Amino acid sequence: MMQRRDFFRRTGAAAMVGAGLSGSFVSQALAAPGEISLPKGDAKLQLSSQLGVIPGKSLEEKLAKMKAWGFDAVELPGDVVGKVDVYRKAAADAGLKISTVCWGSAGGALVSDDPERRKSGIAQLKETLTAAGELGSTGVIYVPAFNGQTPLTNQEIRKVLLDIMPEIGEHAVNVKSRVLFEPLNRGEAYFLRQVADAAAICRDVNSPGICLMGDFYHMYIEEPSDFAAFVAGGPWLHHVHLASRRRVLPGQDERSFIDGFRGLKWVGYQDYCSFECGCDGDRDVEIPKSMAFLRDQWGKADLPG
Ligand code: MG
Repeated sequence: MMQRRDFFRRTGAAAMVGAGLSGSFVSQALAAPGEISLPKGDAKLQLSSQLGVIPGKSLEEKLAKMKAWGFDAVELPGDVVGKVDVYRKAAADAGLKISTVCWGSAGGALVSDDPERRKSGIAQLKETLTAAGELGSTGVIYVPAFNGQTPLTNQEIRKVLLDIMPEIGEHAVNVKSRVLFEPLNRGEAYFLRQVADAAAICRDVNSPGICLMGDFYHMYIEEPSDFAAFVAGGPWLHHVHLASRRRVLPGQDERSFIDGFRGLKWVGYQDYCSFECGCDGDRDVEIPKSMAFLRDQWGKADLPG
């Protein structure tokens, strides 16, 4: 007797095509789940920060301070197109790497209901990827849409992304960069809230140029397990944002990083963890304290077994 599951395997794809759904939807529906790998265990904690929270009157002053405090890298804002030489020289002079470029959503242009806006958004993202590749960063942080930026439904946004991302991914690979999908909490974006959801999109697009990141602030709201989120995202994970529950410096409230750091160790994370947060109190005192807190949390994040 034919099992019900076999019946769906044999007829599911044809039935969905018959119902007028696209080929990419069919391949998503039939994609196999990944298997949890064994822990890799060679991860490292490399600290980075956005510029906003760092004290200093100029880019150079901020970078010099970061180097003196022991940061490994700086995360740049999204305005890198046309400024590659300036940023590259400033980071090199300070002895810092460039972790990522924090680009955002371009007003939701890539998943707009207007084809012309989509085209313009894709062109802007490609230009930013080219600059990010020249800067030697791990990729460009991308949010499909903040709440209210597109009238499309969640299902429609996902479909658009699967349509446009293969070509963007190819461009990213050619310029030695990556798109990094950033899941946000529901207060900021109903589309894409969990790291595993971004991972499923990356899996379905299946391009080395389309990857993801995790942000401890959003994860506190949306993830039942930091560890599980990073394990699910592991094959595509190339950046992490650091902030406490109240979005101030790690260590300034009760937010623990141990479970998430255990996940980063499990997947053998090799990229940067970067401050994206405010600060309670004197930044010259509190930032080095927060870095020491994070190194302590990293040390406490033992792998099981
Ligand atoms: Mg973030």
